[in-house]
Amino acid sequence: MDKVLLSGNEAIARGAYEAGVLVASAYPGTPSTEILENATRYPEIDASWAPNEKVALEVGIGASFGGARALVTMKHVGVNVAADPLFTLSYTGVRGGLVLVVADDPELHSSQNEQDSRNYAKFSKVPMFEPADSQEAKEFTKLAFEAGEQFDTPMFLRSTTRISHAKSIVTLEDRPTDIPQPSLVRDAAKLVMLPANARKRHYDVEDRLIRMAEWSNAQPFNRIEKGAGQVGVITAGVSYQYVKEVMPDADVLKIGLVHPLPEQLIRDFAANYETLYVVEELDPYIEEQVRAMGINVIGKEKLPICGELTPGRIRKALFGLDAPVEDNSPELPPRPPNMCPGCPHRGVFMELNRAKAYVTGDIGCYTLGFLPPLSAMDTCVCMGASIGNATGISKVISEEEQRKVVAVIGD
Ligand code: SF4
Repeated sequence: MDKVLLSGNEAIARGAYEAGVLVASAYPGTPSTEILENATRYPEIDASWAPNEKVALEVGIGASFGGARALVTMKHVGVNVAADPLFTLSYTGVRGGLVLVVADDPELHSSQNEQDSRNYAKFSKVPMFEPADSQEAKEFTKLAFEAGEQFDTPMFLRSTTRISHAKSIVTLEDRPTDIPQPSLVRDAAKLVMLPANARKRHYDVEDRLIRMAEWSNAQPFNRIEKGAGQVGVITAGVSYQYVKEVMPDADVLKIGLVHPLPEQLIRDFAANYETLYVVEELDPYIEEQVRAMGINVIGKEKLPICGELTPGRIRKALFGLDAPVEDNSPELPPRPPNMCPGCPHRGVFMELNRAKAYVTGDIGCYTLGFLPPLSAMDTCVCMGASIGNATGISKVISEEEQRKVVAVIGD
């Protein structure tokens, strides 16, 4: 079998291909964008952009209800937009597997907030895999389709910037040749979520999570790696790579399915250690659930809750050691994002600046109108917020000030 170097995003697209996916739908956003771009390399997949994340998920849901495997991708803030269909999709379950890839952006390299999508898995009761390299990104994508169909649930696959954009070796496999032909099958009790049906489905959802947690206790994607036996670490995703670098002698429980957590496996592992760490980026998602099991751990009281982890940050937080300075790369000038030299928006922002307008903006290239020398943006909350924000602020200010308010929208 061929081995190739792939980014996590390329590997997810490859995983979808090898899983027999027929439809991929997405809304772009860093760090998720390249997944759909790479899905277009496979003519067997009908891959297209949607006008927003909600529509992307609805297209995927339709394909799944038709019996096809469907991949839906977005960045973390996109899940806020897609949350309406997501929470009810959790109740309907799937026909063909549906995997929603969400790429989080710890450190806010290109985002307006740093939300941790693992909370969405718990909130929506949709199980979530989290890979730690490109090989796992491909394998977990395929696994997510299989597990989703086995347990009749949509599945999350969570990536983060470093998993999506770093490259590592991936072993390629073939696409199945026996992909079932999608067709219309009526099943109103499962797919029409009016209260009488949804009430029953909620019991199925809760039962599914219990069964999945039991199942995952003995699955190889949750694995224990033995070290010197002195210290235990529970971790997942990219944090696993940092743990292996910083604490090579630690015993590690690497979790692949981060929702629902493998409770019995965690209990069995934790029983061996007086010193047990949970190393995870952003929220104390695993830590809080482990503590709720009555297990004492060291976590966010030492590790940062904001920003990315790095080996150096973990070393410093847990052991008070400064990161070794081994970076011999030349000093490069900072290159913050900026509007393209010929961008027609530049002139608009220049005039808004001259007019001393109060500019409500939102997410896109034109957010860069905030930066000097244009310096013509006063608010930026989320995609599509500018007109609503301008309307709201105009309701409460004087008539004279209202004349200064301008909303900009459009990427
Ligand atoms: S809209 Fe964005 S991509 Fe297009 S020219 Fe302007 S800055 Fe460049």
